[in-house]
Amino acid sequence: MPEGVIVKALSGFYYVRTGSETVECRARGRFRLDGTSPLVGDRVEISLDAQGKGRVDKLLPRKNFFVRPAVANIDVLISVASEVEPVTDPFLIDRVTSTAEHNGCEVIICINKSDASDSRRLADIYAATPYKVIETSAVTGAGLDELAECIKGKVCAFSGNSGVGKSSIMNALEPGLDLKTGEISEKLGRGRHTTRHTELFSLGNHTYMMDTPGFSSMYIENMEASELKNYFPEFARWEDQCRFLGCVHIGERDCGVKDAVQRGEIPESRYENYRLMYQELKDKRRY
Ligand code: GDP
Ligand code: ZN
Repeated sequence: MPEGVIVKALSGFYYVRTGSETVECRARGRFRLDGTSPLVGDRVEISLDAQGKGRVDKLLPRKNFFVRPAVANIDVLISVASEVEPVTDPFLIDRVTSTAEHNGCEVIICINKSDASDSRRLADIYAATPYKVIETSAVTGAGLDELAECIKGKVCAFSGNSGVGKSSIMNALEPGLDLKTGEISEKLGRGRHTTRHTELFSLGNHTYMMDTPGFSSMYIENMEASELKNYFPEFARWEDQCRFLGCVHIGERDCGVKDAVQRGEIPESRYENYRLMYQELKDKRRY
């Protein structure tokens, strides 16, 4: 029973990477995960029939999974941002970081196009969080060794608004990849987003990169408004200065978190985005 990782799902077939081979498999029979269908990123057991055709027999337990895009077992979510066109709104980053926290994924903030900007706006905000911040350039290669080191042996997924350089970074990390890059309008013109599927690319040594268009508009889900504060980890340090037990740092008096924002110890944009997302969850409105 070889074990492998689903790297691609297409037209009823699953492509399962076992060691250095990729086996085309049909999913058959029932899965122990109760009718759950396999996702890209799932670890599975497969078998080969007499004709050498593969079959997915069993889904192994998941570390986590996402609904949109539907993928499983992400170790690291890399939030790719840019200070030059298209400038990244920190709100987009904070949706990614909080969803990652909620799903038990590590977070890396990657500020790309460092060759083209001297702005410290995003670097300063995220320096005040526990997240690893790497400034990269897919053009000069700056920061890419550090990024490669951070994802070694892990399954990572890149998220970020279109045009920040996700494909360029992936190509730079794995020169054989040859993903299409280009400006947003050009990509849409080619219909790229409608034809692409999610795929996990192996970098060897159990390192995988996921190429999925869906993570660009991260979707917060299955989350109570009251737990959101747990996914802004730099808030925890100030919580014992809140007057009320279970303070959610919104309308309460004598709130240690709000005081820390006032003193500039928590970046204003982090708190403001927390408030917006809190309201969104309260309203159960979905993007
Ligand atoms: P994606 O939509 O996030 O996958 O972005 P792409 O990788 O397609 O890149 C969008 C555009 O930005 C392309 O024209 C790239 O050549 C350019 N680009 C990507 N990375 C960098 C970088 O580090 N510096 C500069 N100056 N341009 C970059
Ligand atoms: Zn509080």
